[in-house]
Amino acid sequence: MKTSRERLLLASLVTAVTIASWSCSSSLEDQSIPIKIQTPNTTTTQETTTTQETTITQTPETTTTQKTTTTQTPETTTTQTPETTTTQETTTTQETTTTQALEPEVSLTTPEATLKTWMINENGETAAVIKDESFIPVNIESAVLTEIDGELFIKITTSGIPNYVSVIDEKTETLLSERPLANRDFREGRPLVGVGSRVQFGDDIGYNSTGCQNLSGTGYGYWPPGPVCPENQEIETTFAIYPTEANENNSETQGLGSIGLWVNGVAVFGWGDGQSWQQEGNWHNIAAIAEEYDLDICPGHSAQGTYHHHSHPICLAEQLEDIGDSHSPVYGFAIDGVPIAGPWVDSGLLARSSWLPRNYSTSDSTTGCAEIGKRTCHLIDQLNPDAGTVEINASAPNTSDIVTSQSGNTFVASSGFYMEDWYYESSLNDDSLQALDEHNGHFGKLPGYTDPLYHYHVTREQNNDGSFFEVFPYYIGPTFYGEIKTILGNAPPGGGQQGPPPGAGQQGAPPGGGRPDLSAVAQALGVNVADLMNALGPPPPDLQSAAIELNVPLEELQALMPPPG
Ligand SMILES: [Zn+2]
Ligand SMILES: [Zn+2]
Repeated sequence: MKTSRERLLLASLVTAVTIASWSCSSSLEDQSIPIKIQTPNTTTTQETTTTQETTITQTPETTTTQKTTTTQTPETTTTQTPETTTTQETTTTQETTTTQALEPEVSLTTPEATLKTWMINENGETAAVIKDESFIPVNIESAVLTEIDGELFIKITTSGIPNYVSVIDEKTETLLSERPLANRDFREGRPLVGVGSRVQFGDDIGYNSTGCQNLSGTGYGYWPPGPVCPENQEIETTFAIYPTEANENNSETQGLGSIGLWVNGVAVFGWGDGQSWQQEGNWHNIAAIAEEYDLDICPGHSAQGTYHHHSHPICLAEQLEDIGDSHSPVYGFAIDGVPIAGPWVDSGLLARSSWLPRNYSTSDSTTGCAEIGKRTCHLIDQLNPDAGTVEINASAPNTSDIVTSQSGNTFVASSGFYMEDWYYESSLNDDSLQALDEHNGHFGKLPGYTDPLYHYHVTREQNNDGSFFEVFPYYIGPTFYGEIKTILGNAPPGGGQQGPPPGAGQQGAPPGGGRPDLSAVAQALGVNVADLMNALGPPPPDLQSAAIELNVPLEELQALMPPPG
């Protein structure tokens, strides 16, 4: 029988194989399956399903409002029918953001509290910028309790599109204007916004958004070069109200793609982006680090149209007014039904991840390898560093090496850059208020909930100057606390690391070699695939002459088609 530790290691190795060819980074799309569930074409089907829902709804005035939310014709239709109004007019009327998630001072039973946590779009607000054939409702369209096989669930419908509004502060302005590749990343070499600018989700702030089309309604200019723009995901899914703790030997390992939903319907993604050093599957990139420059100001980006976060969701935290003066509210729910709270456990006190980066820098380190600064070994068990290390025969950057991300940004590959650099330090899980277990959670009181319950925390730490940095595993994991009961994207119940087989779907350009998906590259460059293939010629491609032939910037082509190695 395998221990949970062995399982984690094995699962991590399986992940290595399974996800090596996936991409979540700046290349044109993450290789997750969008959590899209088509709404039935016939409205009759929908109505029959709704009859099975319990009458507890989030808008307790009338139990019937629940069924009209999806049709978006409630009381306030003024902002809802903007055929004749201009975009500017609609956006100014959208100041009334949904904030009912902030209200509950009263403690409620778990089902009631969970119901109240979601940001329901009660006034039919639509996305300020992102559009398709019609206006897209923001946040949660409906949240209802429902029973499936005798178990209580909450059923959520959402577009996956948030209504974030950011006011650019000095820090953000500096981060934008001092991006290492600002000259390439901004169309005019600099952002179009400055301190005090008000930016709605999807507003053009001057980025050269290579993955999106330069059309109004797509969000062009809001995202840095790379990923596609977000789209309405029409998500309909359920979360268990009462999570079931997984058998100790059977915790699910986090996969790629959606591992939950934030309370505004935006997808929760985990630590990974499907990329690894040389795509060999031995040293996996951590999305929040390797994609630092591939994220918007919230920070987030899209994978095959699914907008998501990988680390502390700043704009959501602002909407929830979580300023660290008490235990954070619930920010979202994971696919095991476990709530994900924000970073604070009490006033001024952050939850503390028990995961630490390995020490490769001394010869007597239990977590390092034979040679100082070299990644020549894996931990046998990331949950138990005392189990020692095992030599691996694979290339890896030294901890002082500079590595280049898919978007052409450079990073020092110091310990912590890769998932395999981390281990669980059980002594940190010391029953203190801020202590978290190996799943990044603990048992305790949550705002709005009468009964204490197990929950995860967003993890980040504070520098001496008051600034924050985000900390692995960010939200969850690497394994889940509970049994997976929600089907979201590519993490089916019991399936662990399942997903489309390598080669299925659109592949992005792997950073370390392999054949990039030329149709995606062509789309990003705005040229047709045949022209691109002709220009590139037989492998290895001559990017310089191809760039001239296609009349595209060489840097852009290089970023989309990084050389092997
Ligand atoms: Zn991502
Ligand atoms: Zn807590």
